[in-house]
Amino acid sequence: MTDFTVEAHHNPTSAERIAQILQDPGFGTHFTDHTAVIDWTAEAGWHNHRVEAYGPISMDPAAAVLHYAQEVFEGMKAYRHDDGSIYTFRPHANAARMNRSAQRMALPQLDEQVFIQSLEQLVAADKQWVPDGEGEALYLRPFMFATEAFLGVRPAKEISYRVIASPAGNYFGGELKPVRIWVSREFNRSAPGGTGAAKTGGNYAGSLLPQQQAAEQGCDQVLFLDPLHDNAIEELGGMNVFLVTNDGRLLTPALTGTILEGITRSSVIQLAQDRGLTVEERRITLQEWERGVDEGTITEVFACGTAAVITPIGELVDGEKTIASTGTGEVTQAIRDELLGIQTGTVEDRHGWLHRL
Ligand code: PMP
Repeated sequence: MTDFTVEAHHNPTSAERIAQILQDPGFGTHFTDHTAVIDWTAEAGWHNHRVEAYGPISMDPAAAVLHYAQEVFEGMKAYRHDDGSIYTFRPHANAARMNRSAQRMALPQLDEQVFIQSLEQLVAADKQWVPDGEGEALYLRPFMFATEAFLGVRPAKEISYRVIASPAGNYFGGELKPVRIWVSREFNRSAPGGTGAAKTGGNYAGSLLPQQQAAEQGCDQVLFLDPLHDNAIEELGGMNVFLVTNDGRLLTPALTGTILEGITRSSVIQLAQDRGLTVEERRITLQEWERGVDEGTITEVFACGTAAVITPIGELVDGEKTIASTGTGEVTQAIRDELLGIQTGTVEDRHGWLHRL
């Protein structure tokens, strides 16, 4: 165990104000009173583990992250169960993924136990911020970035790791609303040997313009393709994709290094296999999707990720053409209910995915 020092906020948010925020938390706009912080230098390694008051960061204008985007992040949720206890979901998987992202971005590795401790310490300081409404959670955002003031292009020797937390409302207002997806033909998210498998800011910066185009077309999110492989489907800007067939198979793009390995994705694969479904991780072309929907062999399509858990894909808009889809199917609904049930404590956690905070 590493000791974190805890410095309580000198002027914490009042219980009344927190209650008011938790009535309609939205997503990503309100932040809790504290932040967990660990510093790293090439000489000293990780040191000064602490929880301190949330607030602005003072940084040199030459800090490497501001110029060369040397940073990675994670996203996960803390759920309050009926008895008031608080759990997070598969935090070791997030810790491992952050380290894989960090490795790709030449950032230091953080011990998985210390990563988990940083979540525990922050949530202990801010537990009154964990909402208890249906579909609500405290979103946790661990991130690591280069603070060294130096304009040369090389891995920074000074790094900061932090965790911030933000209460998140029910993404759907209770309803499973199918989303409309825009197929990006003009822009790609990643390429072989690139950074597509890392959770790093640049991937998201690059997705903003296609996302803007999608919004102009009345779409909610973007589907990225792999133009080097017959326009095989990759993923959405922030979610992985699954297709369900009429003969009990689940299809999802394989992890080839150009998509993010979603923790929801891997949980869906496990829960589908538990149900006796066959999961095929492989290349899926847009043509196969379109033909399957036309011929009735693809009966459901959904996207999955921490924020929205599982959301059905309604329509796929590809330029002038719209591939109508299937609405919310049985398999989508069943896997979603089970996964959400495990996370919120109403379904048995048979895989040991929950971690008490
Ligand atoms: N793909 C991308 C590009 C993402 O940003 C996310 C969100 N982390 C996902 C997929 C889904 O990953 P997870 O299930 O771990 O949230």
